[in-house]
Amino acid sequence: MSTDLAPTRFAQSATPTCLIDTHCHLDAPELAADLARVVARAQAAGVGQLLVPAVSVANFAAVLAMRREYGCWIGFGLHPIYIEQHLDEHLAQLELALASGQAQVVGEIGLDFYLPQLDVKRQEVLFVEQLKLARKFGLPVVLHVRRSVDRVLKYLREQRIEQGIAHAFNGSQQQAEALIKQGFKLGFGGAMTYSGSRRIRALAASLPLSSLVLETDAPDIRPEFAQQVPNEPANLLHFIQLLAGLRGQAVTELQAALYRNSLVALGFD
Ligand SMILES: [Zn+2]
Repeated sequence: MSTDLAPTRFAQSATPTCLIDTHCHLDAPELAADLARVVARAQAAGVGQLLVPAVSVANFAAVLAMRREYGCWIGFGLHPIYIEQHLDEHLAQLELALASGQAQVVGEIGLDFYLPQLDVKRQEVLFVEQLKLARKFGLPVVLHVRRSVDRVLKYLREQRIEQGIAHAFNGSQQQAEALIKQGFKLGFGGAMTYSGSRRIRALAASLPLSSLVLETDAPDIRPEFAQQVPNEPANLLHFIQLLAGLRGQAVTELQAALYRNSLVALGFD
């Protein structure tokens, strides 16, 4: 490892047309041992900003540390996968955290109807309460949507939430169009690298460019080309090259558009 690979702070406005990783769990334990180099490698790959969403009150401090240490954009939210851990009073803690003005989004929040052990009713209650907080603070939302697009849309409409990202989008063309109509961008990343992901690849190739953002979901969703190591934000460079191939568009053209889309989705535009 070269010694010049040292991380710097991300610029708050990001630099025009840099790559933006719109979903990255930089505070995850899998990345902790090598974190400074993970950030430095991302910056060397042209990633000019990252969004780090929280998943429960237990990692709010860790996410905040990513903002303090590296200047990342962050979100506070209660992730549906950890529904068992979320207590009613955590909503009040979330509200306090959002009131601090440190977070750029409410997230990661959503509905997961794929894992059968997750209580659906409880998920819906917490989701709606968090959408209300997003409205109260005027923040976009970063959504985890698994087998639940239609229900998520119902609540977005009811709560009049019209800005954010449906992360790791994996729905139908029709559901994609409905989310776009609601004002959302769709996050694409590691799943695109699998040749078997036909539907995701077809959507990434054919949806309007204005509706897409890129993400790694690091350290999760390991790309096909690097399954032995934790996924990391530097892989975004591979993802944009792959997307350029799928869409038959130049990387530079995509990068400028994706940069703009990310800023719009996260409320910076
Ligand atoms: Zn996530």
